[in-house]
Amino acid sequence: MRRCLIAGFTASLLLPVLAPAADLDSLVTQLAPRAIELRHQIHQYPELGNREFETAKLVAAHLQSLGYEVRTGVAHTGVIGVLRGGKPGPTIAVRADMDALPVVEDTDLPFASTQRTTYDGQEVGVAHACGHDAHTAVQLGVASVLAGMREELAGTVLLLFQPAEEGPPAGEEGGAALMLKEGVFDEFKPAAIFALHVFPEFEVGSVAYAGGPVQAASDTWRAVIHGKQAHGAWPQLAIDPVVIAAEAVLSLQTIRSRNVDPTEAAVLTVGIIRGGQRENIIPSEVELRGTVRTYERAVQDLVEKRMGEILNGVAQAGGATVEFEYQRENPPLVNDPALSAWAGERLRAHLGADKVQSMRPVMGAEDFAFFSERVPGFYFRLGPTKPGTVNGNLHTPTFRADDGAIPVGMRAMASLVLDFLAAPPGLPAVQ
Ligand SMILES: [Zn+2]
Ligand SMILES: [Zn+2]
Repeated sequence: MRRCLIAGFTASLLLPVLAPAADLDSLVTQLAPRAIELRHQIHQYPELGNREFETAKLVAAHLQSLGYEVRTGVAHTGVIGVLRGGKPGPTIAVRADMDALPVVEDTDLPFASTQRTTYDGQEVGVAHACGHDAHTAVQLGVASVLAGMREELAGTVLLLFQPAEEGPPAGEEGGAALMLKEGVFDEFKPAAIFALHVFPEFEVGSVAYAGGPVQAASDTWRAVIHGKQAHGAWPQLAIDPVVIAAEAVLSLQTIRSRNVDPTEAAVLTVGIIRGGQRENIIPSEVELRGTVRTYERAVQDLVEKRMGEILNGVAQAGGATVEFEYQRENPPLVNDPALSAWAGERLRAHLGADKVQSMRPVMGAEDFAFFSERVPGFYFRLGPTKPGTVNGNLHTPTFRADDGAIPVGMRAMASLVLDFLAAPPGLPAVQ
């Protein structure tokens, strides 16, 4: 008996599992089925960015049923749920994104989307091809778990349900930047913020993370080359923007290979090249559009500067002129190193060390970066792929998140929140 007591005491000193793991596990087991039901509903009726009307209603109703203070209409369709714990303490924020994509789903899920909508003036299918339905459902499940432990919570939990992570429709504002512009962090001042994202490389049961840079800065650009129209059989009378555009596309690729330090990350992609109406007419102009991804501000500045120089130089050499616009969209997402080290240790304690993998930074962007620029942030990956199956990539018709990921996400996120409030990293542990 005595040995057991000493062993228990020693273990708690060495590895304080701050969230009572047994309570958490039983709450997750009990509450995950409802979160999965909600996930099916959200998945079957997906909505594009800034149009998450029904999703927001479902989220708000669930939070209200749990006794959260609920704000709606934040950054168009966002919802905020606030849970004030029974004891004083810091505020911790968690973010889930709610928007879907203009993709036609091609899975055999019984709750697959057959919805159609309009996007950019065109009729399109709409699907949760980036798994935001799973993120929203996990966060609704976390809301239920935390509401069940409200009296023990030392602090306040701020659940952000964000619209338009994939970017707002043309001409609109939206997403994390608009939530911040509307003052969400001025009012609540969280000590840190967490988020998760499914990623098909990882199987159900595992999570993955890295400290430091994880997702790139994302910029968009547009160039219009103005030439001179002529008959296709009289090129000597034209200033041909098609030939100039072709040269520009190749020359732009030398920025990555010849100007940027080879040890730095950078991608320059031309995603749209558009011009001309007929086979036998040299058009008057060609439009190019694309994206640039970087991690470092100096590299971002260099790419923008060299793009302008190259486009102007190539256009001038061909006798044309060029208009060039460059727009910085998302900052890079950098996980706070100290918070990440703490969170990694917590995830290993709760899920098992073999379930917590490391990940490499990617050049995809994530607008959670706006939040984590303001307060220390930790963003990790949740495995959505059923073991033994092949999954589609994110943003493709065959991507599928398995329901088994929902309780794993609930357990991971709820334990981070509970442990953070029980003993905020960098502060003396609450005994
Ligand atoms: Zn996405
Ligand atoms: Zn996404």
